[in-house]
This record gives sequence, C-alpha cells and structure tokens, in this order.
Amino acid sequence: MTPAQALREKIVLSVFQDELFGQNCYVLARRDTDRALVIDPGLQARQVTAFLEREGLAVEALLLTHGHVDHLAGVPALRTATGAPVSMHPQDLAIVDFETFAQYPFMPPGFAPFEIDRELEDGLEFSLQDLRLRTLHTPGHTQGSVSFLVGLDCFSGDTLFERGIGRTDLPGGSMEKIVFSIRNRLYALPPQTVVHPGHGATTTIEAEMLLNPFVPAR
Ligand SMILES: [Zn+2]
Ligand SMILES: [Zn+2]
Repeated sequence: MTPAQALREKIVLSVFQDELFGQNCYVLARRDTDRALVIDPGLQARQVTAFLEREGLAVEALLLTHGHVDHLAGVPALRTATGAPVSMHPQDLAIVDFETFAQYPFMPPGFAPFEIDRELEDGLEFSLQDLRLRTLHTPGHTQGSVSFLVGLDCFSGDTLFERGIGRTDLPGGSMEKIVFSIRNRLYALPPQTVVHPGHGATTTIEAEMLLNPFVPAR
C-alpha cells in the first residue's frame, strides 16, 4: 500500500497493491463526506476493508475495470463488508469462471460467485456527490475492459500502463482493439490527464503519447 495521495479537488485517492500480482486497488474518497468508491478489489481486500473501517468510509459502488481474477478476487469480501453494488461490463461475464477462480491456491478464504448488480456501458456515470465518474469502454485487453474517468484522472485497468499496454493473448484479447481503444479513447483525453493503471506506476496521457513503445501517437 502506498500512502494516500492527493487527487484533484475533493477526492483523496488511496492505492493498495497486492503482493502477488502487483495489482492496484484504488479507493476514491470524498474529503468532505464519508462517501467512497472502490475500483478493482483484488487480493488486497483485507487491507482495503481495514482502511475503509478505520476511515469510516461508506462505499457507494465496487467498480471493476475488467473480469480478470486479480482485479475481482476481493469482491465477495468487500461486498459483504460494505454492502455496495458491483459493476462490470457484461462482455467480461464470458471470461469470469468462478469455479476455476475458487480453486486457485492464492484466493482469499470465502471467495464465492457473485452477481453483477449494475452492468457497465460506455458513458455510464457514477456520482460521488457532485463529482462524476464516467465509464469509457476500452476493449482489447478483454472485450469488456473499461476505463473510468473523473476530472483529469483516468483509471485505465489493464488497458494502458506506464510505457506498456495490457496483454492481448488471453481470451477476449485483441491487439487491434486495444490499439484502437488507446488511440481513440485514451489519447483523446486532455494530455495532462493522470493515468492510474491496474498495475505499476501512474503516468500521464501526454507521456504515453510521446513514449509508449507499443502505441505511439500518430
Ligand atoms: Zn487483466
Ligand atoms: Zn491485471
């Protein structure tokens, strides 16, 4: 876990990284209220739950950038702890295999199948009081991969990394689609937009347009 990092305006952004996959779970919390959103609770769910309790945060939604196990292993625990509804893009239901997931030796105790309460779609917005978090459908790593945008901060899941992009050799992956998503959706964001990826360090749209070796800006 890295210490809380100041996000623009009214949000405190906290990042929790799991040790096995190095996957980033993000907690967005309002400074002025007790409301929060959680993106991609994985194997660090216990730390996230403890943090939410310690800070007295009420979670309004659990948001998944895609259906890979490292990004959703903590959903059952977080859902039980917070009662918050779960959102994922329906196209990733095809790659969520609860039986197989449950057998992985690294899975947290109590992992169980869960339902998607609200299906994500391009343009769908979530509110954190007066702030809006917008869903961008960015397929390619998986068919149902999305990114979330709030102000000048983008949570890119496994679509765009610092100097990298997500794998496209897994089921539902497509190099053509991920390149299209990055070029036409993410590189279309303001250059100063900060990218918070599913793995690794933050970057900016401007830096990736200049330096990303996999998807250079045209
Ligand atoms: Zn993934
Ligand atoms: Zn991942």
